[in-house]
Amino acid sequence: MAWTFQSLIDDRMTVTAYCHNPACNHNATLDLKRMRDRFGPDAPAMRDDVLPMLYCSKCGGKKLGLIYTPPSPGDRDAAPNRYAKAKGK
Ligand SMILES: [Zn+2]
Repeated sequence: MAWTFQSLIDDRMTVTAYCHNPACNHNATLDLKRMRDRFGPDAPAMRDDVLPMLYCSKCGGKKLGLIYTPPSPGDRDAAPNRYAKAKGK
């Protein structure tokens, strides 16, 4: 499957960018709603799509890593229908 900004928001994913500059080590959570508003809800939001858009806000470096984090079990309980559907029930 390919994520878009909207599907990341719908799935309650958290995307965190990490700077690979060892002298910097900055990390930041992406504002997915702001990126959706800027690039559009259907814009692809996989790692290779998003990384070229980003640079470190602290050191300006372009060598970043991304980590996609699924919602915690507590959040999952808040949207039972979506997860039941994802399992094909
Ligand atoms: Zn940096």
